[in-house]
Amino acid sequence: MSQPKTIYMDINATTRVAPEVLETMLPYFSELYGNPSSMHSFGDQVGGAVKKARQQIADLLGAHPDEIIFTSCGTESDSTAIFSALQTSTEKRHIVTTRVEHPAVKNLCENLDRLTGHKHRVTQLPVESDGTIDLKRYEDALADDTAIVSVMWANNETGVIFPIDEMARIAKNRGILFHTDAVQAVGKLPINLAETPVDFLSLSGHKLHAPKGIGVLYVRKRTPYMPFLLGGHQEHGRRGGTENVASLIGLGKACELAGQNMRKENTMVRVLRDKLENGLIKAIPNTILNGHKIDRLPNTTNVSFEYVEGEAILLHLDRFGICASSGSACTSGSLEPSHVLRAMGVPFTAAHGSIRFSLSVYNTEDEVDFILEKLPPIIANLREMSPFWEDRHKIGGGGSCGSCGCGK
Ligand code: PLP
Repeated sequence: MSQPKTIYMDINATTRVAPEVLETMLPYFSELYGNPSSMHSFGDQVGGAVKKARQQIADLLGAHPDEIIFTSCGTESDSTAIFSALQTSTEKRHIVTTRVEHPAVKNLCENLDRLTGHKHRVTQLPVESDGTIDLKRYEDALADDTAIVSVMWANNETGVIFPIDEMARIAKNRGILFHTDAVQAVGKLPINLAETPVDFLSLSGHKLHAPKGIGVLYVRKRTPYMPFLLGGHQEHGRRGGTENVASLIGLGKACELAGQNMRKENTMVRVLRDKLENGLIKAIPNTILNGHKIDRLPNTTNVSFEYVEGEAILLHLDRFGICASSGSACTSGSLEPSHVLRAMGVPFTAAHGSIRFSLSVYNTEDEVDFILEKLPPIIANLREMSPFWEDRHKIGGGGSCGSCGCGK
């Protein structure tokens, strides 16, 4: 059987490198292989390209180039920001974060005591059923010994956007450092750090059509800072290790393209996403949208098909070349639904059947139509085999239907 054409709707997992980005990078693997830290002019011309990339990234963020530190990925940027805050304010042991953070922040916060040997208090704020945050609860969680707030800008699973501008202002007024994991936001949302007072921001190249293995930590001028990787004097002593030159140059180009195209692309992607989402909800009974309908990335939809397993859906989609993600973590062996959906209180029978489609301008209306044709029968077949579907009118207790509103 010939391999079906790939329909890639897993952009929040990773993106293809844009052709213009690849083209910009290529010379730095071959003829322009100098070290940007070298004193000779061969290295220096690479240094010039690094400088340009730093400026392109700063421009997209509304930042100053000196505030851009290159790292290896979003995860490193997150760790650097949080460890830096804890090391520059050792008397403060409290961290405020949310229950829906990416593991890059969540697992770090949950393992801080083991990693640092200090007694840290971590407040993981709950979220509402639509994935949004209660600002009053956030304000109440801040304490005199809070060293840092670390809150994501946009959620990778649901696309829900947090009010980072307001949250950063609240922290600032209390003299608390504010970090945002903006890995899913940069390139998809307009960001202007000249106006939004965050101290640290993380981004990752492979989420915006630059390569994997390159990240940035933005550190606002005059923010107390300690490097995570000690070593050479690269990045003005703020991150040791020879820079991933070709990739950071690609990231610079990707940021330039995002700045030019974001508005137009968001409109196009939103139309495709909405067509897919509305089509699925209309065609498949017991389909639930996870996350706020409006305050969300234009490219992301997370839907639950009640009473079926997300992993099984993904396998069937894969047979048609359709790439998406599931909200359950069966692949990690835990069989637990995603921590994000659990935090939102999505019922067990829905959380297990959640699928995330994350789109880009590389997707087409034909692809959306193809999914709308293939997915409804997949769900119907899986439900035929599902004992939960059979018992759905009993689930919810009391012998009456707790779910589908059938009145049984
Ligand atoms: N933060 C968020 C919100 C993400 O979605 C991801 C990756 O999926 C990361 C952090 C980690 O980024 P990286 O893969 O560059 O380490």
